[in-house]
Amino acid sequence: MSRFAHPAGDRHAEVPHEERPPRPPADLNTLDPAVWPRTSGRTDGAVTIAGVDVRDLARDYGTPLYVVDEDDFRSRCRDYKAAFDGGHVYYAGKAFLCREVARWVDQEGLGLDVCSSGELAVALSVGFPPERIALHGNNKSYAELEAALRAGVGRVVVDSFDEIARVGYLAEKLDVRAQVQIRVTTGVEAHTHEFIATAHDDQKFGLSLNSGAAAEAVRRVLALPQLELVGLHSHIGSQIFDTAGFEVAARRLAMLLTQVKEEHGVVLPELDLGGGYGIAYVRGDDPPDIKVVADSLREIVARVCDDAGLPVPSLTVEPGRAIAGPAGVTLYEVGTIKDVEGLRSYVSVDGGMSDNLRTALYGAEYTCVLASRASDAPGVLSRVVGKHCESGDIVVRDAWLPEDLALGDLLALPATGAYCRSLANNYNYLPKPAVVAVRDGVSRVIVHRENEDDLLRGQV
Ligand SMILES: *Cc1c(COP(=O)(O)O)cnc(C)c1O
Repeated sequence: MSRFAHPAGDRHAEVPHEERPPRPPADLNTLDPAVWPRTSGRTDGAVTIAGVDVRDLARDYGTPLYVVDEDDFRSRCRDYKAAFDGGHVYYAGKAFLCREVARWVDQEGLGLDVCSSGELAVALSVGFPPERIALHGNNKSYAELEAALRAGVGRVVVDSFDEIARVGYLAEKLDVRAQVQIRVTTGVEAHTHEFIATAHDDQKFGLSLNSGAAAEAVRRVLALPQLELVGLHSHIGSQIFDTAGFEVAARRLAMLLTQVKEEHGVVLPELDLGGGYGIAYVRGDDPPDIKVVADSLREIVARVCDDAGLPVPSLTVEPGRAIAGPAGVTLYEVGTIKDVEGLRSYVSVDGGMSDNLRTALYGAEYTCVLASRASDAPGVLSRVVGKHCESGDIVVRDAWLPEDLALGDLLALPATGAYCRSLANNYNYLPKPAVVAVRDGVSRVIVHRENEDDLLRGQV
């Protein structure tokens, strides 16, 4: 047993309290159903997803590899659609978008949020119905707005006074009527990482409710006949577990709806509460059931509107992470393993911050398992790191991996379906990994692995 092994001595005693790593799970081979895709399991010791053995995936497609459980992704689309029956669900494409995913979202009948002309182009390239596309962003360019209006997108979520003027001008020029929502900053302090909280006043998104900017935006939109104001929009942040923030945001938006009715005699038909529904990344994460969240949001909006004598608007939500995140697993091959005396084992994998930036960017937490075989060896406190030239290039800060882990083994990280491929980069000229979809025992590439030609493309 190595000096880091569980349960030898107690390493916890040497580590300051807040730095204490999580306790090792009872069995290192177990796949926690809260964190793993709905179809995952082990066969002959190796992890399988949708009946496909990860060893076959690594052999056929190489590593690192993003694996998406298609049925898991689609079933979460359906869960949201059922939970918000009578309202609208837009999948937030920035969590993970490619042409095939756009097809799945279309087939499942959801709308799609895009926030650049690149994301819009992906959607339009597979015939995604433009009327079910919403364009977001705090700094949409003139060209992006024009592309969206020409395509006939169903929603432009305006985020500033300048943008209202631009959309008004463009709609007149193109002779179209643009349907807009106003992105309202409700002042809600969402309990999540600072960089993914988006409704407090001191940040770049939206028009403030508190300052009166949101009410002024309503005036300006209503004054432009080529714009149709269809509703108010709020997105309070991401990876949120506690529905209290949504409730406060809904209440505040309903107050503005009332004010709009009193001032303008206009009843807005839609309330969009954005995305941000949290998922389980590690043991103990316990996000609320989406049916419960949906019922409580509907109830709140209905009550607030009843109190104000307003008809109840239709409710729109925009989950990204909660649909794509749990469906994805990343496979890596284990390379160098170094024991750092008295601390932990450093396990290097063949990717890192180029395929998963979240740990470096937000201090995100993950778990991982030895995936190519089961092991009864005791657990070693490990840090899974990438191959990039940064010591912050950490994939899993604290992982318990079997002591017999060796070069060539496969590691699998669950809950990597959202904000991993979409934040991927070519740091150190690493090609971006392929994305493979698995379903009913069959795997297929939905995004090809980059190669050196891709890396050199565009250079003189
Ligand atoms: C990012 C974003 C979402 C999706 O957030 P998730 O946390 O992935 O659910 C939805 N709406 C807007 C406006 C966003 O910016």
